[in-house]
Amino acid sequence: AGDGILRRQRLRESAARTYARSFPIVPVRANGMTVEGADGRRYLDCLSGAGTLALGHNHPVVLEAIRRTLDSGAPLHLLDLATAEKDDFTTALLESLPREFADQARVHFCGPAGTDAVEAALKLMQTATGRRGALAFTGAYHGMTAGALAVTGNVGIKSPLPGGGEVTRLPYPYAYRCPFGSGERGARLGVAYAERLLDDPLGGVLPPAAMILEVVQGEGGVVPAPDDWLREMRRITAERGIPLIVDEVQTGVGRTGAMWAVEHSGIVPDAMVLSKAIGGSLPLAVVVYRAQYDSWRPGAHTGTFRGNTLAMAAGAATLRFVAASGLAERAALLGARISERLRRLQGRLPVIGDVRGRGLMLGLELVDPSRAVDSCGAHPADPRLAVRVRAACLRRGLIVELGGRHGAVLRLLPPLTITDEQVEAVLDRLADAIEAAAS
Ligand code: PMP
Repeated sequence: AGDGILRRQRLRESAARTYARSFPIVPVRANGMTVEGADGRRYLDCLSGAGTLALGHNHPVVLEAIRRTLDSGAPLHLLDLATAEKDDFTTALLESLPREFADQARVHFCGPAGTDAVEAALKLMQTATGRRGALAFTGAYHGMTAGALAVTGNVGIKSPLPGGGEVTRLPYPYAYRCPFGSGERGARLGVAYAERLLDDPLGGVLPPAAMILEVVQGEGGVVPAPDDWLREMRRITAERGIPLIVDEVQTGVGRTGAMWAVEHSGIVPDAMVLSKAIGGSLPLAVVVYRAQYDSWRPGAHTGTFRGNTLAMAAGAATLRFVAASGLAERAALLGARISERLRRLQGRLPVIGDVRGRGLMLGLELVDPSRAVDSCGAHPADPRLAVRVRAACLRRGLIVELGGRHGAVLRLLPPLTITDEQVEAVLDRLADAIEAAAS
């Protein structure tokens, strides 16, 4: 049956299929970190729906919340009408957010994907500031949408100014290959560059509607920004009246070792974009923003799917369970332990150029040590090796996805509920796969 499904999918689905191409398996059952294929093989899932499954697959708390809601007879789809489920989710969400932010926050429910929330946040800040354009970073990933609003005719719901404006790209502090040199000095020079550029009357940058950033870049190759750099970005934007949007689509809900990744640096954003894990494995996305930016008239930003009842129930249960069981703290602990083990492995396997990340959002950048180092002292990335390692992992029953420039970064995003034994199994299989693929 599995082979038939794979064959039909290849024939009938778009050539843009990605994960299905990298992992030619047909999952039939899943529980926690384990996925079982139609052929009976079992895999440890270090992808977790691209970071969505904070509690792993089919966690009893999530299933119970979904069952309870189904049994209650609550309508499953209601546009954005007031429901007890929405009320409860909003309470759980606001309770989970840093106090200084949540106390003056408003929540906007958007279309179900992270990209919808990013669109909403950018448009909101355009409305609030009357400006266009945004500051964004090299290596950033915020979604896939482009143009739906542009081809919509109703000018009333377009932002005050048509079009999104220009995007000014600033360097993200990617220490391993930082354009300004590695380490803290590189990050500092990046801050100076940003500041000079914004203040230079000949710099070509019009005052933007917002700055948007990830605290740890995920798709960009698991690149954590230093806390000082984040505080500097907060200062730079605050001093110039530029709203700061933090995209916590991937970093949220305990992933980085804090409930929200902004907590590490203590920065208070003007808006947070949230999706993935907040829906407890069902689609849900919101923008949370400071009340002072609540500039939309009723109907200024709408959509058919704005808060699915089941996703809200599953999401509220997830947020509460992560907080009550200290899973963020555990993620910090396990992340440190796994990183240390990976660094030891790096000592033995020179193809591991860099080990980085935060909490249970970890990355290994694979390089070709036989080739000369670049101006940052790093060997060139080795994407072909990364593809071989991913396949070798799968053969050993481990699902690991790639990311970063040229796809040479192995990304580890296990559920926060990963057990100690599973940590050992992941490390063993990973080491074995890298060694086999590199030899
Ligand atoms: N922002 C970040 C940081 C993401 O990692 C992603 C998805 N990987 C998105 C936005 C887009 O989310 P979605 O795929 O749900 O549109």
